[in-house]
Amino acid sequence: MTTRENKRRCGLDIGGTQIKAVVLDGAFQVIEELTIPSNASSGPPAVKTAIFEVIQKFLDNGHPLSFVGVGCAGSVDSVNGVIRNSPNFANWENVGLAQWITERFHLPIKVNNDANCATLAEWHLGEGRGIKNLILITLGTGVGGGLILQNRLYQGSTGTGGELGHFSINSNGIICPCGNRGCFERYCSASALKAQLPGLSPKTIFERVHTDKQCRQLVSDFLHHLKIGLTSLANIFDPDLILLGGGISKGIVPYIEDIRSWVKTTSFPAVGAHLKIEFTKHQNNSGAIGAALLDLDM
Ligand SMILES: [Zn+2]
Repeated sequence: MTTRENKRRCGLDIGGTQIKAVVLDGAFQVIEELTIPSNASSGPPAVKTAIFEVIQKFLDNGHPLSFVGVGCAGSVDSVNGVIRNSPNFANWENVGLAQWITERFHLPIKVNNDANCATLAEWHLGEGRGIKNLILITLGTGVGGGLILQNRLYQGSTGTGGELGHFSINSNGIICPCGNRGCFERYCSASALKAQLPGLSPKTIFERVHTDKQCRQLVSDFLHHLKIGLTSLANIFDPDLILLGGGISKGIVPYIEDIRSWVKTTSFPAVGAHLKIEFTKHQNNSGAIGAALLDLDM
């Protein structure tokens, strides 16, 4: 009989260009990892083939898998393992990912939003271990998020809870693809920076802050909006810890004391006095690692 101690979990993070995949041992250590093209532009059947390939490769390499977890951006019906739609996959509508994998490999499987998976990775294995009320914010191409509330992943009524990039911080602001206006994501993401200064990468914009006036202004605006958003989240959820991750989070490392100080000062006194703001531990493969842990919580 397979127990938690000896079972090996497979986690997949399915992105628009790549599938990141890991195998965890019973101690939740990564013992093999792979990255393969997701072939998303060729439609769901091509992605299905890629998913099967990577799971089969792990099996062929001698891993006695007892669970497969999958993370994917977008709206996920985690109860039925269905991707309703995803920004990474233009033509996807109600794709039954769990059914595909179950029919082919006869393994238990769970599917969830990629940001929720990243949150689980941090909660079980990263900087969020033992935290009762945790907010994870990933500052990347967009802004993703996940919530651990009262020691459980909070998913809302339809599995869409925790879309922390899509609360508005500007009622007259930029229209967001989600349908709202002035979303946090429109101001604090790589795509937001690129929209304002198309010729430069976000990394370069942060690097040139001391030598380029336009970059300095952009970073200043970015940090201002980030502080406003974090204060709102702090007041709504009264968390123990907010973790900041994603590619852009590296750019804000020099400003973290200023961010902490602002949020502590502008949030409710009890909230600000208790709150900690830190950076995530896992950067590259947290979505895949968290996917492999999906069976621990639900
Ligand atoms: Zn939005």
